[in-house]
Amino acid sequence: MRNARRSLAGTLTAGALALALAGCGESVDPIERLGRQTSQEVQGAGPSASPKPGPSGSPSAPSAADEAYKKWGLTRPLEFAPRPAARPNLPHAGPGKVPVVDRIPLPAGEKTVFLTFDDGAEKDPEFLRMAADLKLPISMFLTDSVASSDYGHFQKLRDTGAGSVVNNHTLTHPNLRTLPYAAQKKELCGQQDRLQQRFGERPRLFRPPYGNYNDDTLRAASECGVSALVLWKVSMQINNFQYAEGGALRPGDIILAHFRGPSELKGTTETEMTTRMLRHIQEQGFRIGRLEDYL
Ligand SMILES: [Zn+2]
Repeated sequence: MRNARRSLAGTLTAGALALALAGCGESVDPIERLGRQTSQEVQGAGPSASPKPGPSGSPSAPSAADEAYKKWGLTRPLEFAPRPAARPNLPHAGPGKVPVVDRIPLPAGEKTVFLTFDDGAEKDPEFLRMAADLKLPISMFLTDSVASSDYGHFQKLRDTGAGSVVNNHTLTHPNLRTLPYAAQKKELCGQQDRLQQRFGERPRLFRPPYGNYNDDTLRAASECGVSALVLWKVSMQINNFQYAEGGALRPGDIILAHFRGPSELKGTTETEMTTRMLRHIQEQGFRIGRLEDYL
């Protein structure tokens, strides 16, 4: 099961490694977590919910944004990668299959990483303000069974003006490897349809729950109109990163985080967890890119 020396992306073993690395549920059982969270939906009017988070289409004024880093616990402004001139070449997928990506191939000196958030259980209005203030481009991978109780939350996140995008993470968060092709396709295409209906756009990116997939998944994704299956190289825990390789970020790393709240983060809020993540990125001298500009 330790076949991770195969190249970065595109192998079933990469999926296994990713799972071992604890994708959607390192310290907490994800199924349990998803179910629990659904039944105690956060209702938007929590103690910290004040003024409406960033009205869609009107991000904070530049002057406010310049100082926003202080408000969110950072010591200096974040750096962002400019939009790339061209999309990098991805590993070849077989006919009728989508490619698998866990790191964007970038020149060695190009210290850019990518932020991805999964599932959609937590819907903290503070996080919307943070993402708008800091202009975070977030690739969301949403599961219908937990996110759909308030898709409006994720619509606001998409509309902060920072370029965040809604992507597919199945209807019900199953382990796809245990399902036959038809059932996988239903999970995948079903969520493509749902998201298209709700957000007006058909997602181009898909992430399998737990990083688990097989050949059928790659074919189903292609059938459902997805252009790439996205895994990760680094997973954000409550305080620190967990790396698939080595002990530091590398250019092009896709970072996995989750829409999680205090009940799943031992009291840490989603914004606190994100501040820690952003600090670690800055400490290692990295800037943030927008994944969808590369895939
Ligand atoms: Zn997940």
